[in-house]
Order: sequence, then C-alpha cells, then structure tokens
Amino acid sequence: MSTAPLQVAIDGPAASGKTTVARATARRLGVLYLDTGAMYRAVAYLALRTGTEIDNEAALARLLAANPMDLELDESAPLGFRIVAGGHEMSESDLQRDDVTAIVSAVSAHPAVRSEMVLGQQTIAEYHSVVMAGRDIGTVVLPNAQVKIYLTASIEARIERRRLQLEQAGVDVEFHRLAQEIEERDRLDRTRAVSPLAPAPDAHVIDSSDMDAQEVVDKICAIVAAA
Ligand code: C5P
Repeated sequence: MSTAPLQVAIDGPAASGKTTVARATARRLGVLYLDTGAMYRAVAYLALRTGTEIDNEAALARLLAANPMDLELDESAPLGFRIVAGGHEMSESDLQRDDVTAIVSAVSAHPAVRSEMVLGQQTIAEYHSVVMAGRDIGTVVLPNAQVKIYLTASIEARIERRRLQLEQAGVDVEFHRLAQEIEERDRLDRTRAVSPLAPAPDAHVIDSSDMDAQEVVDKICAIVAAA
C-alpha cells in the first residue's frame, strides 16, 4: 500500500524567513526542500543575461523554451537544491543580485512564466514528500497540501533578515533601500492578477517577528505531527 507524499506549503511576504525555516523543517522531517522563489529569480537572471524584455511575455516564454530549467533537489547542494538554466548553475549570489531582485516580481507576474514554473513544482510534489516555500504554494501549486503555513513578520524583522541573508550571500546593498525593496515587491506580488500572494483559507498563520527560526520550525513540525 502506498501513502500519499507529504506536502508542506510555506507562503509569505518577502524576507519573512520562509527559506531558512522551510529548509530546516524539511531536514527535520527528512523530506525534500524547494524554495520556488529561486526559480523565479533564475528566470529573471536569464532575462537579464540575454537582454530579454521583461514586459514581453511571449519573449520570456521563448526564453524558457530555449533554456529549460533543470531542477535537482539535493540537500547537500549549497542552496538545498540545484537550478541549472542556460548552461549555468545558479548560485545564491546570482539569485540575490540587486538587478535580479529589482525585476523578479515583474517577471513572475506573467502567466506564461508561472505556468511553466508551477508545472515543475507540481511534478516534484506528486512523487516526493516536500516542504515548498513561495507565494502561491498553498493557494495554487499544492492546494491539497496536508499542512499550509503563512509566515509573516513585522517590516523591521524582515529588513533585518534580508540584510543578514544578503550579507551571507556576499551581496552589497544599501541598508536604507531594503524597506523600499521589500515593500514594493510585496505590493506587486499581492496585487498581480494571477496567483497573488495571499494566505490560503486553511493556512496556519505564524507571526515570527519575535521567534527565532528554531521556534518556528518546532511549531510547524508540531502542526505536521497533528495533521
Ligand atoms: O522568495 P523570494 O523573495 O526569493 O521570491 C522572489 C520573487 O519571486 C517574489 O517577490 C515573487 O515575485 C516571486 N515568487 C512568486 N511565486 C512564488 C515564489 C516567488 O511569484 N511561489
């Protein structure tokens, strides 16, 4: 008798701590981990590298068709998974580049881009237990996930988390621009026509402003155990 793979969806606004928490939760549960934001960032990176117009949906679709994304979930990889596109393995510093962050919300608003990414995400979760982080995992990608988490935090906590993340990735940013970057991306992600950022009606909302990553992981694992 086979059991359905475990699907844990973790959504939330920018820099809410999803990536750290999702990876640690997956490790604790002994399942795969995927940060879907990295996939959209990889598309933005490719668009920049090839000079593809980010408002041109058909051109972005052609770019993806010509450069299929190779995704390998591997806990021992630096990101916890590997994304190879256009013959290039994406590193954390590629994905967190300032110019990638500046366009990723515009790139990911296109239905043709989303459908391609979502298909890859659903294919993985069909056969493997996984913790998946993103914006639309509980609402669109894995609507039947056994556990859905919506992770939030105050803007102050998110600025500090983003600063640390960028420091670790070796990316230089001006501190005063972080609040603006985070708030602008959230605005675009919440107001887009397709798969906007929103908590699924059946999501557990966790405000992690005053919690460290370990406490959030403990809480999610308790929810998983009770599911
Ligand atoms: O999670 P991260 O901040 O790296 O995501 C980068 C961007 O990718 C988001 O601001 C959003 O525009 C897009 N994204 C998305 N759907 C997801 C994950 C990320 O639209 N499931």
